[in-house]
Amino acid sequence: MKVTANILLNYIRCRRFASLNDPENEFDYEYSDISSKAFYQAFFQTFAALYLEQKVPYSTQVSESFDFHPEIELFETFDYMTEVNGETIIYHLIPSTSKEYLRMKYPVNKHKYQLFAKTNDNQFEIVPCKNEEGKKHYLEKLQKLQNRTNDLGRSVYRTLFKRYVYEVSTDVKNVKVLAVFLNSEYQFNGIEYDPSLFHILDFNALYPSMKETFEADVYRMINHLELRDFTACPLVKKECRKNDTFECKFTGFCFSHIPKNNSILDYFNSHLGFDEPSPDGDIHHDTYELINQGMVDMLDVPISWLKDEKHLMQRYCIESDFVYVNKEKIETILKTLTFPLIYLDFEALPCILPRYEKETPFTQSVFQYSIHIQHQEHLLDKNGKDHYEFLANPAIDNRRELVQSMIRIINQYQGSVIVYHKTFEEQRLKELQNVYPEYQSELQQIIDRLFDLMDVVKNDKKFFLEHEFSEFEANRYNFYSPILSGSYSLKKVIQVFHDNAYENLNIQNGVAAYNAFMKLETLAPTDRDNTANDLLEYCKQDTYSMYEIIEGLYSYLSPNFSIR
Ligand code: SF4
Repeated sequence: MKVTANILLNYIRCRRFASLNDPENEFDYEYSDISSKAFYQAFFQTFAALYLEQKVPYSTQVSESFDFHPEIELFETFDYMTEVNGETIIYHLIPSTSKEYLRMKYPVNKHKYQLFAKTNDNQFEIVPCKNEEGKKHYLEKLQKLQNRTNDLGRSVYRTLFKRYVYEVSTDVKNVKVLAVFLNSEYQFNGIEYDPSLFHILDFNALYPSMKETFEADVYRMINHLELRDFTACPLVKKECRKNDTFECKFTGFCFSHIPKNNSILDYFNSHLGFDEPSPDGDIHHDTYELINQGMVDMLDVPISWLKDEKHLMQRYCIESDFVYVNKEKIETILKTLTFPLIYLDFEALPCILPRYEKETPFTQSVFQYSIHIQHQEHLLDKNGKDHYEFLANPAIDNRRELVQSMIRIINQYQGSVIVYHKTFEEQRLKELQNVYPEYQSELQQIIDRLFDLMDVVKNDKKFFLEHEFSEFEANRYNFYSPILSGSYSLKKVIQVFHDNAYENLNIQNGVAAYNAFMKLETLAPTDRDNTANDLLEYCKQDTYSMYEIIEGLYSYLSPNFSIR
């Protein structure tokens, strides 16, 4: 069986994984969605063109393997290899930015020291700590980098495992593996990339201790394979990684006894655990510890363990099939709206490589909007003349047209611009201000009028404190239904008021939308038209859902309540 770092990382999650997995049918977690694959290829080719072409000769996609055990062949493929002064350099490309590594600091007295520093050859490496007083915090940071259960540590693990496989298979010791990330501050000039797009990080100082970890982990994997133990094992948050980018592929199976809705995990902030009162002081319980003891439903948690007002609200709503509505708060915040109500929603593509001028790596590049304008209370035709939409041509930079048309539509009115989860739209609008300074004030007029509908159903503590609500009231959420199951996402909230709003749509979420947009160019004309239509219908439903939520809320408010 061929074992890469990724396969090893999966097999050592728990003893059960080996019995569930079919080694013939490995799943590549790293680049599983369509758009990342396309972007990864561009990242790969650009790095070679900009960074390596001076360092000839270099090779690419070289593989090495080593028979560690009769059934285990350690195996790795190296993105790029070159030789500098007799030393073999392997480059491992990681589709992420260096930001989190470069912001790592440790305190010494009142100063904070950077863990990574730039070297003369424009790479970043770990700086040794010379100060005894800072050692403890410094070592904590190093431990974080060597811990495979967090994202930073996992990239270090994958990088240095390549060096390990290369060393044991070739017996060459004069080798180093460098991790190639993207520079999050790089701004594309719109014409050509330059080498500052990349940040090269050197984790090799950690290799001696990681080498021992790899050996121990391979033994652990062999042990799991030999056990072939199918019986359930305790669920462990940092190993199962449910709803995380490194989620185990068997969570659907291992978590199948946990209710899909209103489970213990759906309590707000359930990751903080629960406190059991006792005469000697509260006893803290981790949520996964409780799950492993059989507490899987919200109702399984003893009510005396719920200290948080919001947990009690959730619990009461479930037990009594009740919809909690803080009428006064909702009416107060809705009253700040100004007609006509302008509903706005963007769709955006998170690009590994910036596509257009002034974009940075992983920019959420806006390609679509939907706008509904509601002139009268309780009246909006989803498909009528007050709906506006824009879908970019994926082959060209259409942002100027998008900005111009959006400004033309929105700024002819003075009304509130309603979005759901304001941070996203606000950030995109600010980025567009940076791209088109000539539209700065028009875009600012939109930003200044943004109204977050999530604040109506969830909360905006600052707003309510400013409007003379008590601290207690200002802290509470405004609306809760058992249908929410602990989530205030637009797709959850709309279910309270329109349970099948997205059911008949071919595109039902933002990830499916940007994947469809990425594929547009490659489709035959008829399929392209159908997909474009699917995208338009999806985005239109997002803005219409916001209208439906406000309309649905009226039935819970005072009989004569009016926004106007
Ligand atoms: S979901 Fe958790 S318990 Fe199940 S195989 Fe994966 S890591 Fe193990």
